[in-house]
Amino acid sequence: MTTASQNPSARVFCVANQKGGVGKTTTAINLAAALSIYGQRVLLVDLDPQGNATMGSGIDKNLATVNLYQVLIGEARVADARLRSETGRYDVLPSNRDLSGAEIDLVGMENREMQLKSALAQVSDEYDFILIDCPPTLSLLTLNGLACAHGVVIPMQCEYFALEGLSDLVNSIKRIYRNLNTSLELIGLLRVMFDQRVTLQQQVSEQLISHFGDKVFKTVIPRNVRLAEAPSHGMPGVVYDKSSRGAKAYLQFGEELIRRVGGRVRRRAA
Ligand code: ADP
Ligand code: MG
Repeated sequence: MTTASQNPSARVFCVANQKGGVGKTTTAINLAAALSIYGQRVLLVDLDPQGNATMGSGIDKNLATVNLYQVLIGEARVADARLRSETGRYDVLPSNRDLSGAEIDLVGMENREMQLKSALAQVSDEYDFILIDCPPTLSLLTLNGLACAHGVVIPMQCEYFALEGLSDLVNSIKRIYRNLNTSLELIGLLRVMFDQRVTLQQQVSEQLISHFGDKVFKTVIPRNVRLAEAPSHGMPGVVYDKSSRGAKAYLQFGEELIRRVGGRVRRRAA
């Protein structure tokens, strides 16, 4: 029996953190590709007008003339906008700078926070996982992501101010839980760009575990240049150099996430 027949609709997870440059997009792309390697059907939603998740999946954002923007304002269906990442072997709901206009267009709409949710409902039964790469703000776009997600995965760097930023984010999640989405859950915190040799990072990591316990994923993503190089080749790091430390870590993370949410790890036929 496949996961799909046990769970007719996809699990929807946001990759979110209010800070920029913390590894959200890298995590979203590599998790999507890792889940695909483990036999899961994945849709990656690029909710950031920068379109980095789109480009990093090997899709030219400028050629994506029908994209998430048109979907959010009700002018296109997900099925018309989604494209295949041939390198990552998952589907992408692409974005580009068109999406920066969505904030303004959405303001006047009824149920403006619920547009993504109703759009994704069209295709939810076609996927095991829908991952949403959020922009680094708590904007109306991010609210659309959090309003339709079952869970949030937070990538974070173990730096001095990390814990402070984290409590803001956790409070935002609680507020969204109360007001918009009572299915929303913190799935876990992922330590990224980790350097074992830096004492401060070890200390922050320990504090994180003492505050959040099991919510901290066991997998740690190291700082690894291969992960940073991969997007310029239009490939997820786990595909670009699968023997690199970064790739191995994201593969392990994919497995940990599947197990954490009670899914089944399957090896995709090559
Ligand atoms: P965000 O989406 O939160 O803004 P990105 O995923 O774009 O963050 O990452 C910011 C920068 O850090 C990018 O240049 C990316 O390639 C690099 N990066 C992310 N994770 C790693 C890592 N584990 N090791 C090395 N570089 C990384
Ligand atoms: Mg990003």
